[in-house]
Amino acid sequence: MTKTPSPSLAIIGAGPAGLMAAEQLSLQGYSVSVYDQMPMPGRKFLMAGRGGLNLTHSETFDQFVARYGEAQDFFAPFIHAFSPEELRAWYDDLGEASFIGSSGRVFLKSFKASPLLRAWLRRLETQGVKLLMRHEWKSFTDQGALHFHSLENGDVLVKADAVLLALGGASWPREGATGAWQNLLRDKDIVVTTLTASNFGVNVPWSEYFISRFAGQLIKRLIISCGEHQAHGEAMIAHYGLEGGAIYALSPLLCDGIAREGSVTLALDLRRDFSDSELVARLKKPRGKKSLSIFSPRRRGLILHPSLWCVNLFCYEVRNFLIKRKILRERSRLA
Ligand SMILES: Cc1cc2nc3c(=O)[nH]c(=O)nc-3n(C[C@H](O)[C@H](O)[C@H](O)COP(=O)(O)OP(=O)(O)OC[C@H]3O[C@@H](n4cnc5c(N)ncnc54)[C@H](O)[C@@H]3O)c2cc1C
Repeated sequence: MTKTPSPSLAIIGAGPAGLMAAEQLSLQGYSVSVYDQMPMPGRKFLMAGRGGLNLTHSETFDQFVARYGEAQDFFAPFIHAFSPEELRAWYDDLGEASFIGSSGRVFLKSFKASPLLRAWLRRLETQGVKLLMRHEWKSFTDQGALHFHSLENGDVLVKADAVLLALGGASWPREGATGAWQNLLRDKDIVVTTLTASNFGVNVPWSEYFISRFAGQLIKRLIISCGEHQAHGEAMIAHYGLEGGAIYALSPLLCDGIAREGSVTLALDLRRDFSDSELVARLKKPRGKKSLSIFSPRRRGLILHPSLWCVNLFCYEVRNFLIKRKILRERSRLA
């Protein structure tokens, strides 16, 4: 008796979405080939690993799902089917233990994505998944074949029983996520929802002096508010402004607010352990001839840290912070 061949599945995109689909569907008996235009799989995933790789959150199911905002009804069944706890167990199985941070977010103990990716690729190989790198998907032919351009083999046509697109978004094009696939689909009259950013940083016109000293520094234990909404966490000082977890958590809200009102106001609390009056009292204490950069922070319980400088610059930028006048005095020196 001849054995029925396994149905063939072509997955385009070797990011975490494509690799996870390959893992699951090869277990279900598909003969899986994964194609990607880049020389290596998981490029953006590795980039995420450089920032510490936040895997998931430890909060309750309802709180977690609520973070998807308007899309929560759509996502709830998927998260039920593969919960944050199951995701952690999956990482564990690949030899990468995770832990819950003080914010409730979950990270890999190694803070790296590369060992995990290596273990994952080994697992896929054992399951018979084929990886074909440097294959850029160009279109579907009228006969339903996939047309790739491969650096080594030129034009390649592939027929598969099923095709799964896992092409990522449109940020970090250097890592493969160009979003160019949108036009490939539109050319075939397939409706594609316009991509919008789900995470973004904010522009702050730092002075050159400030950015030369503090670019790349992390501000920890920050509270960012926008109206009645708050996010706790950290933000990194980038050359163009601020980015990082606390800003990203408010991104959907900021997007909606800007679309609705044209602008939004962000308030940054860099010393959440102080009440407003405590902070004012501490800063009012005379500091004699010392400049702000050296005036005895310990005596006032203020730690001399980039965040203190940020307090000052933010005060200036948002014009509504309590210690604004002190900043203006310092500003002429900083600018
Ligand atoms: C700096 C940074 C930090 C991040 N931190 C985190 C974090 O802490 N936690 C977290 O969960 N996420 C984080 N992310 C986001 C995470 O990396 C992405 O959500 C994830 O990579 C998306 O996976 P994906 O498989 O959908 O898409 P991608 O990883 O973008 O993979 C898509 C793949 O499709 C390929 N492709 C696209 N078009 C074609 C084509 N025409 N032909 C062939 N191949 C094609 C691309 O080359 C790419 O390899 C971070 C991202 C960045 C950039």
